[in-house]
Amino acid sequence: MSELAELNERTPGSAELFRRAGRVMPGGVPSSFQLREPWPIYLVRGDGPRVWDVDGNEYLDFHNGFGSMVQGHAHPAIGAAVADRYAQGTHFGAPTEGAVVVAEELARRFGLPRWRFTNSGTESTMGAIRIARGLTGRNDVVRMAGSYHGHHDTAMVGSSAGIPASVVEQVHTVPFNDADALERIVERRAPACVIMEPAMTHGGFVPPEEGYLEAVREVTRRDGVVLIFDEVKTGLTIAAGGGVERFGVRPDVVTLAKALGGGLPSGAIGMTSEVARVVEDGSVPQLGTFNGNPLGMAAARANLIEVLTPDAYERLESLGERLRAGCDAVLADHGRAVALGSKGCLRFERPPDPELIWLRAMNRGIYMTRGRGYEWTLSVAHTEETVDRYVELVGELTPRSSDSVRA
Ligand code: PMP
Repeated sequence: MSELAELNERTPGSAELFRRAGRVMPGGVPSSFQLREPWPIYLVRGDGPRVWDVDGNEYLDFHNGFGSMVQGHAHPAIGAAVADRYAQGTHFGAPTEGAVVVAEELARRFGLPRWRFTNSGTESTMGAIRIARGLTGRNDVVRMAGSYHGHHDTAMVGSSAGIPASVVEQVHTVPFNDADALERIVERRAPACVIMEPAMTHGGFVPPEEGYLEAVREVTRRDGVVLIFDEVKTGLTIAAGGGVERFGVRPDVVTLAKALGGGLPSGAIGMTSEVARVVEDGSVPQLGTFNGNPLGMAAARANLIEVLTPDAYERLESLGERLRAGCDAVLADHGRAVALGSKGCLRFERPPDPELIWLRAMNRGIYMTRGRGYEWTLSVAHTEETVDRYVELVGELTPRSSDSVRA
C-alpha cells in the first residue's frame, strides 16, 4: 500500500471531522499553515513528547507546535501556574507583576533592557518594524531571501495578494550570509531596519558564517539602521538567550513569540533604551488589549523560571547533539544533519520528496512539520530513546532514486 493510502486508512476520524470543518472554516483549518489534502490530521491530546490524533494514533512529536512546545506537552509546572492564575482572574487590561518578572528574565537572557508584550510573532515583528520606522523616520525594510516574519503586510510582500504596491516598494531582499550585498542595499536605500533571524530557520536552517553577524552589526550601526533579530523561532530554543547568546552579537531589537508562552499565545519585543525612547515618549504607541495578559504571563513565567532552566538547555543541547550525530551516521554519504540546541535539520545530497518523508514519518508514529519534513524541534520531554526512534526513521529515508509518493 502507498504511504498516502496507509495514512488515509488510519485517519477516518480526521476525514469525518474535515467534512464538518470545511463547511465553517476555509480549508477546514484555523490557519492556512494547517491546510492539507485530502484532509488535515486533527489532534486531540498531547503529553510530554507525544501527541494523539482523533483516531487514537499516537505520535512522537518533533513538530512541537511549529517549534513552540520546547517544554513538552501538558507540563505540570505550567499547568499549575495557569490553574492558579485562572482562579485569580485571567484578564484585567491592567499591568500585573507577572509581566514584570517575565520582562526582567528576558532582559537578563538577551541583554536588552526594555521589553513589551504581544500575542504572536506577527505582532512582535509588526511592532518592531513600526518602532524602527518611527525612530529613524525612514520607510524601507531589508530582509533575507527565503525568510518568514509573520503575516502583516510588510512581512508578506511577495507571498500574498492584497499587499498595497506602496508597501511592496519598501521591502528589499538580500541573501543571508552575504554581508557585501547587505552593505550595498543599506548604502543605496538607507532603510529603517534590517530584520533577520540570526540563524535562518526558514529556507533550510542555515547558521551564520563566521564574522557575518558582526559585519551586519557594523554596517547597520554605521548607517543608523535598526538591527532586528527576529528570534520568534530561535529565541529560547537554541539557547536561553537565543541567537544573541549563542552568537554573541547584540541587535537593537529582538522579537519573540512561540516558545515564550509555554503553549499559550504570547510574544515580546526587546529593545535597547535608545530604541525604547519612541515607545516611552508616545511617538510610537505599542498597543494591544491582551498584551501582558496575566494568564499568558503566568505560563511564560513558569516556563522560563521553572521549566527552561540551565539544566533544560543542557539537556536540549545533548539530545540535539545525539540526534545530529545519529542522523549523520545513518545518512553517511547521502547527507548530513545540522543542530543548534533544540532545533535541527537534515541536509540531503539528493533531497527526497518532503511529502514522502512526512507521510512515512506519520505512518511510523513520528509527527513532523508538514512541508518542512527535514526539520525538528525537540522538547525537554524527549529522551534518548525518542531521539533514537527518529534516527531509525532517517535510516529508512536514505534516498533511493525510485522513491516517489504513490497516490
Ligand atoms: N517570525 C518568524 C521567524 C517565524 O518563524 C514566525 C512563525 N513561523 C513568525 C515570525 C510569526 O509568528 P506567528 O505565527 O506567531 O504570528
